[in-house]
Amino acid sequence: MAKKEIIESILIPEDKLLKRVAELGEEINRDFEGEEVLLVGLLKGSVIFLSDLARKIKLPCMLDFMSVTSYGNDIESSGEVRFLKDLDSDINGKNVIIVEDIIDTGLTLREVIKVLKARNPKTLKVCTLLNKVSRRLVDVEVDYNGFDIPDAFVVGYGLDYAQKYRNLNYIGILKLIDE
Ligand code: 5GP
Repeated sequence: MAKKEIIESILIPEDKLLKRVAELGEEINRDFEGEEVLLVGLLKGSVIFLSDLARKIKLPCMLDFMSVTSYGNDIESSGEVRFLKDLDSDINGKNVIIVEDIIDTGLTLREVIKVLKARNPKTLKVCTLLNKVSRRLVDVEVDYNGFDIPDAFVVGYGLDYAQKYRNLNYIGILKLIDE
């Protein structure tokens, strides 16, 4: 049976997102005072968050991107990670901050951290907008966390369902209902 997509409710409205993103930027400014940082965005979900966050960072700041995907269907990850695009820059000796849209099981991040650590950055931190703590399967250290959220499938502000909804200016809960 065909499924209809509905935004069931707004979990985080735009004003709360922007306020929290500004706070995360301030934390990064404080922690790296006098240093340079390289923001590594994980495509595509982090791009909206990263572009707002980057503009709150008052330090010398560079941007780079990598693309990883987990095997599985649109809503459930299988836990296996595939690398689609690597960074353009050398991160050796740099203060790297991985910018992620959401941490769910933690499997994606664990693989990305493993790969980036092996390239000898000066520091390696993790900044996520959303954190589904109850779904965690592997332990990953999160240095900057926007919001802890419940176990629901969310879209908006960069997060998609079948590549749609990334342009919403809020985080909403998506439900698939029988038509
Ligand atoms: P993990 O490897 O931590 O299980 O999953 C991380 C990735 O799964 C995220 O970067 C995101 O692409 C996807 N993901 C996990 N939960 C959600 C969700 O609620 N909504 C959307 N749109 N993607 C999610």
